[in-house]
Amino acid sequence: MSRADRVAARLAEQGLDLLLVTGLTNVRYLTGYTGTNGLAVVGAGTRRFLTDFRYVEQAGAQVTDFDRETVPRDLRLGLGDGWPEGAVRLGFEDQHVSVRHARLLRETLPDRVELVPAGGLVEAERAVKEPGELAAIRAAAALTDEVYEVVADQGVVGRTEREIAIALEQEMRLRGGEGPAFASIVASGPHGAQPHALPRDLAVERRVLVTLDIGAKVDGYCADCTRTWATGELPDELAEIHALVLRAQEAGVAAVRAGLAGREVDAAARDVVDAAGFGEQFGHGLGHGVGLEIHEDPRLAQTSEERLAPGHVVTVEPGIYVPGRGGARIEDLVVVTEEGCEVLTSTTKAPRVVA
Ligand code: ZN
Ligand code: ZN
Repeated sequence: MSRADRVAARLAEQGLDLLLVTGLTNVRYLTGYTGTNGLAVVGAGTRRFLTDFRYVEQAGAQVTDFDRETVPRDLRLGLGDGWPEGAVRLGFEDQHVSVRHARLLRETLPDRVELVPAGGLVEAERAVKEPGELAAIRAAAALTDEVYEVVADQGVVGRTEREIAIALEQEMRLRGGEGPAFASIVASGPHGAQPHALPRDLAVERRVLVTLDIGAKVDGYCADCTRTWATGELPDELAEIHALVLRAQEAGVAAVRAGLAGREVDAAARDVVDAAGFGEQFGHGLGHGVGLEIHEDPRLAQTSEERLAPGHVVTVEPGIYVPGRGGARIEDLVVVTEEGCEVLTSTTKAPRVVA
């Protein structure tokens, strides 16, 4: 079954006739189109793809299994006709459609076409990776590992966080990646207490922790990997934080397997942090799905009831953040299997001094 066939099968379960796919990543996943203005309509026997003049040639090369239509740049204007006879229940991706766009859609569609909120159907398919997708994610993870070694060889002390970030992103491109999957994080000293710190024009000092959260993108697929290095001998407190995060991270990786709910895996790592008295300093979820997007389903978090399945690709990334002192996070990218998981990011997690 093709990806579109599988989504069409899900529609029947939801009592829908068709799905209007407007999220561009979902459009790409189903049709192969990588442009920035396109939408698809999918259902049993229906494979419509709409784009505007600018992308006709690109779509001709990329979109081979859909009926292609060229419509005005406001693609919605192409949806006035082309619908099956009679009443139609049309699902739409309510997580991607603004209130305004939904109103305009309503005005464009014939009255007999009913718009039904149906977000998440394509995302559910995307969560389980096919072998070709896994190959791209593996390649992105391997490239990310490679870049870590380049940065370690270059050293970090005396370079600014921004210089390090720019250099490592350039390496991703030079070594065959499309570039970074997200804006790289390089956070040293007390700045490491911010989980999503922006790299600064400040030089990395000696005897601090420096957190690098980076990921390459290959063939559209993302990698995501965090390491926290020491830039010299550390004060005991920082060394202990790193050791604790590592224990929690290893407990999280050991817990991953098909059938578990996201919150159960989260708890395996969080319990280690809680037991050491740092629960308040671990204020985010344990991990997230990764694929065409850097954050996708499923989520590993205290509230996540989503069950892991073979082929899910998720991160395991506990962190401890102490305001004014610094922080540590360690993140691996793993593929869920029946019995456990396979770790895709292999650069060392052991305490590492990079000066
Ligand atoms: Zn990350
Ligand atoms: Zn992540």
